Amino acid sequence: MPIFSSSKKKSSDEPAKEILTGKQRRIVQKEEPVLRKKAVEVKPDDISSKPIQQLIADMKATLDSIPDGVGLAAPQVGEPYRIFIVSGRVFLKPSKRIQIDEYIEKGETIRPQDAQIIPPDLVCINPVIINFSKEKKWFDGEGCLSVRWLYGKVERSTKVKLRAYNEKGEIFERGASGLLAHIFQHEVDHLDGVLFIDKAKDLETLPEEDRPVGA
Ligand code: ZN
Repeated sequence: MPIFSSSKKKSSDEPAKEILTGKQRRIVQKEEPVLRKKAVEVKPDDISSKPIQQLIADMKATLDSIPDGVGLAAPQVGEPYRIFIVSGRVFLKPSKRIQIDEYIEKGETIRPQDAQIIPPDLVCINPVIINFSKEKKWFDGEGCLSVRWLYGKVERSTKVKLRAYNEKGEIFERGASGLLAHIFQHEVDHLDGVLFIDKAKDLETLPEEDRPVGA
């Protein structure tokens, strides 16, 4: 989903593994059947396999290359697996994010000192939302990297709890509110073949002059 991304460091106590360089992939658009299929689970033992690790690296490189991207699901790069990632930029303090967003909007590159403080992208494999708040809200301005350049209002739970495997094959749970809750629901929908335009109202095309430079 649009609005952001980053690269991450390896921790030094891990055994030395081959470092996979991600390749930017083409983002498939809404007409393509892969976006309408139910994606398949990754076997936990396969998470450490080279094809899955390469796919995750490719997804990070792809999301990184999109100035307004905040989340990306594997079917969006043509791979029908239950994996999505959330850009590390989402986890920045709001004041820092606003500053970095301003550079991006102007089409400037992020300064190296800012790039360093961007947290790693969050990788979610076989994600399940295990709790939705009863409280819902019509979120304004939802869009999708596979439905350029439509935006609309979508009703989503204001808080959710997600359970997933991370890229090391460990299970984790994470509660989310605000933007992150919104992203979790949008990306899990992708894994079930659902696009935000199926649920949105007041859809509008973003005028060209409002689109981020370089997007
Ligand atoms: Zn999307």
